[in-house]
Amino acid sequence: MPKRDHTKLICDIGELTEIFSDAPSLESFLQRIVEMVAEHMACPVCSIYLYYEDTGDLVLKATKGLNPSAINNVRMKLGEGLTGVAVKELRPICVKNASRSSSYCHFPEIGEELYESFMAVPIVRGVSRIGALVVQNSKKDDFSEEDVRYFRAISSQLATVIETARLLIGFNEKQGRQKEPDSLSHPKVIQGRVGSRGFAVAQAVVLDNLQPFAKFLAHAKDRSYSIDDFTQAVRKTEERLQALQQQIEQKLADVASLIFTAQILMLKDKAFVDTVAAGIRRGLPAPKAIVAVVEEYMKKFEDLPTAYLREKKHDVKDIGIKLLENLVGISDEENDLRGKIVIAEELLPSDILKLSSQDVRGVLLLSGGMTSHLSILARSLEIPVIISDARHLLKLAPSTMVLMDAEEGKIYVEPSETIVKAFAKKDDSRLSWKKACEAMKPATRTKDGTRVRLYANVNLLHDVQIAREYKCEGVGLYRTEFPFIVRSDFPSEEEQYVVYKKLVDGMGGKEIVFRTLDIGGDKVLSYYDYGHEENPFLGLRSIRFSLRHKDIFAQQLRAILRAGAGAEIRIMFPMISSLDELLEAKQVVRECAADLKKEGIVCHSTPPIGMMVELPAVLEIIDELAEESDFFSIGTNDFIQYMLAVDRTNEKVADFYLPHHPSILRSLKKIVDAAAKHGKDVSVCGDMAHDERYVPYFLGIGIRKFSLDPRFFPKIQKTVESTNLPEAVRQAQKLLGRDRVSDLNAVFERKAKAGS
Ligand code: PEP
Ligand code: MG
Repeated sequence: MPKRDHTKLICDIGELTEIFSDAPSLESFLQRIVEMVAEHMACPVCSIYLYYEDTGDLVLKATKGLNPSAINNVRMKLGEGLTGVAVKELRPICVKNASRSSSYCHFPEIGEELYESFMAVPIVRGVSRIGALVVQNSKKDDFSEEDVRYFRAISSQLATVIETARLLIGFNEKQGRQKEPDSLSHPKVIQGRVGSRGFAVAQAVVLDNLQPFAKFLAHAKDRSYSIDDFTQAVRKTEERLQALQQQIEQKLADVASLIFTAQILMLKDKAFVDTVAAGIRRGLPAPKAIVAVVEEYMKKFEDLPTAYLREKKHDVKDIGIKLLENLVGISDEENDLRGKIVIAEELLPSDILKLSSQDVRGVLLLSGGMTSHLSILARSLEIPVIISDARHLLKLAPSTMVLMDAEEGKIYVEPSETIVKAFAKKDDSRLSWKKACEAMKPATRTKDGTRVRLYANVNLLHDVQIAREYKCEGVGLYRTEFPFIVRSDFPSEEEQYVVYKKLVDGMGGKEIVFRTLDIGGDKVLSYYDYGHEENPFLGLRSIRFSLRHKDIFAQQLRAILRAGAGAEIRIMFPMISSLDELLEAKQVVRECAADLKKEGIVCHSTPPIGMMVELPAVLEIIDELAEESDFFSIGTNDFIQYMLAVDRTNEKVADFYLPHHPSILRSLKKIVDAAAKHGKDVSVCGDMAHDERYVPYFLGIGIRKFSLDPRFFPKIQKTVESTNLPEAVRQAQKLLGRDRVSDLNAVFERKAKAGS
């Protein structure tokens, strides 16, 4: 490439006044600037982003080389994407492989895939942020330090005129906004947070929580309905609910029980049906009679003292909607969620199951957050979810097309054809990725031939099939809480046995680690009254709950031991904080096994018993625990949360959630060493296990067993295969010698760039 003539570029900027007077509009002025800079930098792409402090948005305003339709449509927040980072941190960002950077933000409509060399400099005047100037090139590693210096100089020369242009454009936009409030107040690309990964493009439907009945009343206002019509509607509703119940039982045998049966029961409640009928007899139009009784019942449930019973108001509301649908005959298409993207303000775990049984494509959730069990369920059911605070989405017109990129957390309202096509391609590559999964080797080895085992994390029975397809060597973590979370009461020993037996049979003789009930924190049981807990994450959680309620604990253990008869099972306790807890829990297992034997019930009476390492408290007693425990599994999600005092569900502190904090890295080594010293098995089952950046470190400190969402197997197998163990050991030693978070951040940021 010819060396860039920076002097010339700077001179030309001096001729800006000419360009300014030439340009027919402010937009074309900005356009001229990018064309000129692109030419001088010998780059095919140059763009200007302007920063709007009132909305906090950086908006693409002019570009040479990217798709012009992206102008005004590509927006990002400060800190989002490489450009957002440059403006937020007021420093130039220059990278060789943009798409490999952890800050990279993909906007499919702009067509920047070809350009990997990337340089952004903030445009600043005094202390105020004006925007960013960006150049991109297809040649890797195109920009030198000298280029960065000159590019900075250009940006500072341009700052004043661009600031003026931004002000004027701002005035015009405000005027335009007064004329056309809707088009401008609804940005086309909305950034949210990923709740469950995937893509979807479909018509959106808003789950109308506020006035669920209004549309039916309006639709029916000129017609009259008899008691017979109402009775028919009740019958049809019951049939529909039965069908849904059957469907969900087939698909989700472990968690589906009672999801719709509670509603069917309500229809069988004579008082409920008779009160509506009495209203109709008194001359009330049937739809109004239904709404009056449904609202009265909702109110009754709302006023009840326990959370579980209060939740039933949603079931009543649902019944009301279904009755009205069947009475006034609004066609299913209008209310059918099948194939749609659902926009909802709040969701319960049972809702996500219902939505899955109705085959929804995706969910946009507009409440503040998503509990981890909701997110785990959505992931297992493969429903993409994005959480956003863009409440105007609740007002989206029916049938508006929406594209969800739940890999990046982006929502595209009325996406252009280009965007849809770009995503179709991305989706195709997901399909080929799936094929790559089928090509998984049954045994994983490092480059130098050391055997490593990949086990699956299983949340629902539904995952078993997936785990087997991905050739897992066993189940390293079965989260038993899901059948508990979704039901309306504690499942009996028998109900649990049926679920566990299906899992054992489904795994065809492979090892399964049953983790005992891990509820509390944000995984609450709606039917159990915890009382008020100021800090539920530090409350009556996990093994504490089980040891406090030994009857419930014993029922679960009996079900596991029975289901494990003749199989290779293990039992694992979550959140162990002391030797005493471990010994007490082990004693309950022994008692259960003895009781089953006495009762003559077939069971596995001596499964290996282990514990999760999730609390910093265990580090000082790790040797004693290793002696008493048959195995360890490191739950990095909670371990990091408690070690660093960072709520794993709180976005505001996400920056402090650092898996490679020196204390975490050193603690992991200590745990692995203790296990090795006592000849005990140790694995990692938290999300760190599916992050390829950490795999060489884990291998280097002695981990040979990983348990993770099997969808990540191909990626992790590849990483293991490309790791040379002696080298990994050396690197791990080096990392253990580092004491600065900033150093380790830099190391793992580099790895992300190199590896992805
Ligand atoms: C963990 O804490 O790392 C873990 C695997 O358990 P869960 O995510 O279910 O809390
Ligand atoms: Mg945990």
